[in-house]
Amino acid sequence: MQAAQMRQILYAGIVGDAFGVPVEFNERDTYRVTTMTGQGTWEQPRGSWSDDTSLTLALMDNLTTDGTYADLFERFQAFMMWGAYTPRDETFDIGKTCAHAIRNRFINQLAPTACGDPSEFANGNGALMRLAPLALVLSDEADITTRLQLTRDYTAMTHRHPRAILGSYLYLECLHAMLSGVPLRTALATVPAQVQAVAEPEVIAEWAHYAPYLTPTISELSRNQIRSTGYVVDTFGAALWCTAKAQTIQEAILLAANLGGDTDTVATIAATWAAVRYPTQTVPTSWQAALVNPARLAAYIEPFVTKFGH
Ligand SMILES: [Mg+2]
Repeated sequence: MQAAQMRQILYAGIVGDAFGVPVEFNERDTYRVTTMTGQGTWEQPRGSWSDDTSLTLALMDNLTTDGTYADLFERFQAFMMWGAYTPRDETFDIGKTCAHAIRNRFINQLAPTACGDPSEFANGNGALMRLAPLALVLSDEADITTRLQLTRDYTAMTHRHPRAILGSYLYLECLHAMLSGVPLRTALATVPAQVQAVAEPEVIAEWAHYAPYLTPTISELSRNQIRSTGYVVDTFGAALWCTAKAQTIQEAILLAANLGGDTDTVATIAATWAAVRYPTQTVPTSWQAALVNPARLAAYIEPFVTKFGH
């Protein structure tokens, strides 16, 4: 795919993250955001991006340098311990399942793909939120089995329950179809059966959790049917609903950031998805210009799009 489109998709996700950071954990309809703000939940300046973006940058760095899975864990550790990939060399948030996986790697010395928590109660969105670069790298990969295997591995490093893995499969396979020009509604009508045909039995056993969202008419669900917590199923459904309802990337971000709950991650994913859906659009220039430490973002984004884009 084109480098310019890759760059646009990646920046959209980061803008979504920064947009959602100040209102993360707020209860729905107790606030309203209409433009990029700062302070709030984490008392960070306007334009600050969070762990969603940091772990995405770490994955980009790993993919750009053809790093191993062990190498990716070194980068995750650098983020958690020393503030690598953050706006100001300071880690202000990290999910507990990701932190647990990093400790599993460096304290318990587990193999990278065995570090994720396999518990049903560790089904947060911490893998889903960082996987967009993998979808971009796999956009030219024709074999679905290869795509799912890599998606499984990169998810299982932190989230090893089949429900989290299914969420990653559905998200990345929808992106894959849409990156090849398939409209969102068509993707929602065709991708589920394609995943179901090749996914592992224990992953397919989780299907019912996602089924309410896997319909071309998802945008007809009412807002109060959409939950926007950090539970991977809720985040997937909420981000998809925002993407399906929105006519612009900007609208997808606004819908997501105003849902309450895990606003930064829902907005990251919704913005990414919307940027794939609307390849000729860009996020508002003033929002992208508000991102802090643009040099650090570019230091990982530019080598990535140079290597994988054309
Ligand atoms: Mg975050």
